[in-house]
Amino acid sequence: MRRRRAFTLACALALVLALLALPTPLLASSTPSRFSQPVEPVQEVFYVVESGDTLFSIARRYGTTVSAIADANRLEDPARIYVGQRLMVPLGDFQGIEPPHTLPYQVQFAEGLADIALRHGTTWRALSQLNDMVSPDVLYAGKTIQVPATEGGRVEAALHFTQPHDTLLGVALRHDVPPMRLSMANRSGSLALMYPGQRVLIPGETERIVQPPLLSARVDPAPALQGETLVISVRATHLVTVTGELFESPIRFFEEDGVHYGLVGIHAFTDPGLHELHITATQNGGSSTNIGGRLLVQEGQFGYERIQAPPGLLDPAVSAAENDLLDRLRPTFTEPRKWSGTLQRPGDGTISSHFGTRRAYNDGPYAGYHGGVDLRGSTGTPVYAPAAGTVVLTEDLIIRGGALMLDHGWGMLTGYWHLSEIEVELGQHVQQGDLIARIGNTGLSTGAHLHWEMWIGGVNVNPMQWLEPFHPWPEGW
Ligand SMILES: [Zn+2]
Repeated sequence: MRRRRAFTLACALALVLALLALPTPLLASSTPSRFSQPVEPVQEVFYVVESGDTLFSIARRYGTTVSAIADANRLEDPARIYVGQRLMVPLGDFQGIEPPHTLPYQVQFAEGLADIALRHGTTWRALSQLNDMVSPDVLYAGKTIQVPATEGGRVEAALHFTQPHDTLLGVALRHDVPPMRLSMANRSGSLALMYPGQRVLIPGETERIVQPPLLSARVDPAPALQGETLVISVRATHLVTVTGELFESPIRFFEEDGVHYGLVGIHAFTDPGLHELHITATQNGGSSTNIGGRLLVQEGQFGYERIQAPPGLLDPAVSAAENDLLDRLRPTFTEPRKWSGTLQRPGDGTISSHFGTRRAYNDGPYAGYHGGVDLRGSTGTPVYAPAAGTVVLTEDLIIRGGALMLDHGWGMLTGYWHLSEIEVELGQHVQQGDLIARIGNTGLSTGAHLHWEMWIGGVNVNPMQWLEPFHPWPEGW
């Protein structure tokens, strides 16, 4: 009850503040030129690399240069791009090149063709014709479709459903948008005829309502790759409990500033293709709302490695006992989240073996895969914490050698194997960049290196994804 009163007060205060501030946005936006172009021109587009693409072909298509794309994405080697990679492509001036009539658009989770059409000032019929769609059922999160580029491409606008007694002015005030701009964005002379549940585009916002009380549900990245981390962020209009299911496993959600976050580790052997994601929001009264959608998981580009190892170390009893010890830590979910933004590389060394590489020992079959990345480094080289966390394992193991694990909260754990020294103690809290260990050649290892792995919800994922500009955590994008 107290919470509701506080909410009402906050709303009243916001209204007063908005009224006080009202003349400014109205004045500022009274220039006709601003209203005649309610759609801002697009400066850049997101592009997901497809089979056969090169940076040169992408650059040419969008009137820009290879180095501009490489710079925008901090690409170490512009010659190495991979299918499914997400790139920010700055749009060039198309000198001597015909500008594209359409631009790629990534379908969001639980988004329909009508929603996308509204956001791009077109109709679902036009979109389905443009994309040769026989049925809107073929939409899924992460699918790239073409949308008209003629009006400046993507509209930065959110889709909202009006509430009973909403008025144009009320909605404009609530979202801090000049009423005229709101009216223009919705291509209606007047939004006076508002009815509950009417779809209204709010310019300048990027969220969209999926289904009340669910304000928005995002899945990043989409499409996803085998061995990646998926972050699901859900916002609601009321206090709700959020649960979910993907890959037939429940998703644990953690709430922070009104956003419910669920982190999912996609196993390196998850079947590529479409998977159903279900999200349920349950209100205090017990009533619940379900939304579902499909998500594309693409095949990771994993290599193959054959490793020669002394037979004694491959004794199944030895590895089973060691795996059991680690498996006890897999269901670790602690609060709060201790990382923020991009993670830091734990060592300077370059990669000698990538995550997900299919592995065979001696003459055996390719039955396993590499659950982490190997970074080059000589014995004694410092290892630094990639993010803040708590030390949850310090052991001397037969296969993994000197082993250390950090818990970063919300089901994110990182592990460091084959260490020569461990510089921290069990239970110790470390900050990002703290010295935690030193590289070694202990356990089942054929030379000094750092094996770095990451678990999300108990599933091994590629930690390198968390070092990239498009790391899964929405902060700092
Ligand atoms: Zn390794």
